[in-house]
Amino acid sequence: MTASALPAAALARYPSPMTTIIPSPAVPTLPVQGSDLRFPVRRIFCIGRNYADHAKEMGATVDTANPMFFCKPADAVVADGADLPYPSATQDLHHEVEMVVALKAGGSDIAVDDANALIWGYGVGLDLTRRDLQAQAKAKGAPWDVAKAFDHSAPCSALRSAADGQPSADTVLTLKINGEVRQKATLGDMLLDVPHIIAALSTLFELKAGDLIYTGTPAGVSALHRGDHYEAELVGFATLSGKVV
Ligand code: MN
Repeated sequence: MTASALPAAALARYPSPMTTIIPSPAVPTLPVQGSDLRFPVRRIFCIGRNYADHAKEMGATVDTANPMFFCKPADAVVADGADLPYPSATQDLHHEVEMVVALKAGGSDIAVDDANALIWGYGVGLDLTRRDLQAQAKAKGAPWDVAKAFDHSAPCSALRSAADGQPSADTVLTLKINGEVRQKATLGDMLLDVPHIIAALSTLFELKAGDLIYTGTPAGVSALHRGDHYEAELVGFATLSGKVV
């Protein structure tokens, strides 16, 4: 029986696909520098162990041929200037300052040489981590979701269009807590550069417009406490500040 042959009472059980049983969740968005338009966030991908000195401080081995990725939910983003609620279920919340790459297009099995053309822009973010729960997960061989993908775990700056300039190996990434520098590196310290991250990630997931990629953190990760004020900067590109409450 075709749909058109169904009686009206049966058709009523198949409403328009725009009709949802509860209100559809809003798509999270980030502000864009120099514009009133916003960037819609589809997914958040993160690479681990992408700076040798951070891998060393975590006692982790580096394997650039098999980069380690994990995800956060899109609605984990926290806007610049917003208060950051200290998360539940941890006694050891850690900051990881990272360059954030925002995609305007995607694909699968992307060639390294094609990757930069997919980038809409850049920002700076924090890959917040419940370090105590991560240590427990590592010990058990359990997934990292509760350590990495919790609510408010992805503060991110306003994004800057790649048309306004691209970061280089000399671009500096810094994080100050209460005015004191805790993390500082140049992007040239990354083990995989952005095109190689995008190429590797696209062998595992089909990337799409709206995806954010957190590109890894340098050494100096440490605890955040209630009342701490953070100031992250991708120098010349983006700044992010907020307070842990
Ligand atoms: Mn990280």
